Amino acid sequence: MENILHDTWDREHLWHPYTSTIDPLPTYKVDSAHGATIKLADGTELIDGMSSWWCACHGYNHPRLNAAVERQLHDMSHVMFGGFTHDPAIRLGKMLLEMAPDTMHNIFYADSGSVAVEVAMKMAVQAAISKSGDHRRTNFVTIRSGYHGDTWNAMSVCDPVTGMHQAFGSALSVRFFVPQPRSRFGGEWHESDIIPLRQILDEHTAEIAALILEPIVQGAGGMWFYHPEYLRQAVAMCRERGIYVIFDEIATGFWRTGRCFAWEHAGVQPDIMCVGKGLTGGYMTMSAVLTTAEVADTISRGEAGVMMHGPTFMANPLACAVAAESLQIMREQDMGAVVERMERNMRQWLAPAASLRGVADVRVLGSIGVVETEKPVDVGRFQRKCVDKGVWIRPFGRNVYIMPPYIIDDARLKRLCEALIELVKEEAS
Ligand SMILES: *Cc1c(COP(=O)(O)O)cnc(C)c1O
Repeated sequence: MENILHDTWDREHLWHPYTSTIDPLPTYKVDSAHGATIKLADGTELIDGMSSWWCACHGYNHPRLNAAVERQLHDMSHVMFGGFTHDPAIRLGKMLLEMAPDTMHNIFYADSGSVAVEVAMKMAVQAAISKSGDHRRTNFVTIRSGYHGDTWNAMSVCDPVTGMHQAFGSALSVRFFVPQPRSRFGGEWHESDIIPLRQILDEHTAEIAALILEPIVQGAGGMWFYHPEYLRQAVAMCRERGIYVIFDEIATGFWRTGRCFAWEHAGVQPDIMCVGKGLTGGYMTMSAVLTTAEVADTISRGEAGVMMHGPTFMANPLACAVAAESLQIMREQDMGAVVERMERNMRQWLAPAASLRGVADVRVLGSIGVVETEKPVDVGRFQRKCVDKGVWIRPFGRNVYIMPPYIIDDARLKRLCEALIELVKEEAS
C-alpha cells in the first residue's frame, strides 16, 4: 500500500496507540490542520469529530495560540523547575485556581494525564499515611468502566475487564472496584447505585487512601454519563471515613460537559483533582494536579516532608504559555453558551440514530455526543468510510462518539452528525 496516504516505513517501524506490528490498522498521513478541518496528504479534507482525543478545543493552528508559543520561544523553551520559577507557570497557576473548586490551593504540574493520575495517587497515599499514621492506608477504590491512563498505577484503576488487567495480571496492584452507577445523567436517581460503595468503604476503611473516579462522564472506559447524586453521596461517605476523593477531570475539564469542570454538576468538591488533555488547547502535552492546603500540608508534615515527585519537564514554559492563552480565550467567551449550542444541535442531529437497527443508545452531554451500538464497531473499516465521507471519527468498542472543537460551525457539526448516522447505518446493514 505504498502511496501518499499510507506510509510503508511508518507501518513497518512506528508504533501507533494500541497497535499490532503484524497487522496494524491503516494510518492516514496528515499534511496540516486548520480550525475544525484536518487535511490529509492527498488533499482530502476531514471535519474533525475528535479534537485529537479531547485536546484541540479551539481547533488547529489557532492564531493566538500560535503567537503565544512563538512569544515564549524567544524568551526560553524550558528551564528546570527545581530552584527556578517563571511567569508562564505563575500566570497559568493563577488562572487554574480561579477556575477550580474554591478549596483548591496547591498545584503540581506534570507531563501528561497518566502522570497526573500517578501524582494524584501518590499524593493521596502520602497524605493518608501522614494523617492516619497507618502504613496500611495505601489502596484505592474506584468505579468500573473507568479510564485513568496507561501508566502502571493509572492502569490499576482502569476498568478491570476492558482495561489491561488481563494482560498484566499480578503485576498490577489489586484495587477495590464497585459497579458503574446505572442512574443516568438527567434521569431518575436509584438509591441502590450507591450501596456497593458504602459496603466497600465500611469493610476496608483502614486500607483505603482514596476514591478515584471521573466525575459525571466516564470517558474512554465507556462514554457513560451518570447521575450527580452519586458524586454527592460518594464524597459525603468518604469524608465521614477520612478517605480522600480524587476527581479525574482530564477528559471532562475545560467546558466539555457544559460546565468548566464536571464536578460543578454535583456541587461537591474533591480533595485532589487532575486536569490535562484540553489544558494546552491541544498544543503540547501537559497536565496539572490541584489539591487542598490540607492535603498539601499533611504531606509536608509527613515522614518524607515533601511531595515525592518532580518530572524533568515540570512546568515547561512553552506548555504553560500556550495553556494560559487557551484559558484566556475561554475567559473571553461565554463558554457555557457555546457548549449549550453544540449540545442542543447534537441532540437534534443525532436523534435519528436512536431508531436505527443496531443502535443501543444515543446520549449527548455538553459537547460530547455518543451513539452506542449493540455490537463492537470494526474500527479499520469504519475509519476508511469516514475518510470517504470527509469526517474524522474514531470509534471505540461499541461507542461511536464525537467531541468536536468548540470553534466548529453549525454546518460542519451537522455534516459530522449526518455522516456518523450514515456510517452507523452502514455498519449495521
Ligand atoms: C486520557 C485520560 C487520561 C490519560 O491521559 P494521557 O495524557 O493520555 O496520559 C487519564 N484520565 C482520563 C479521564 C483520560 O480521559
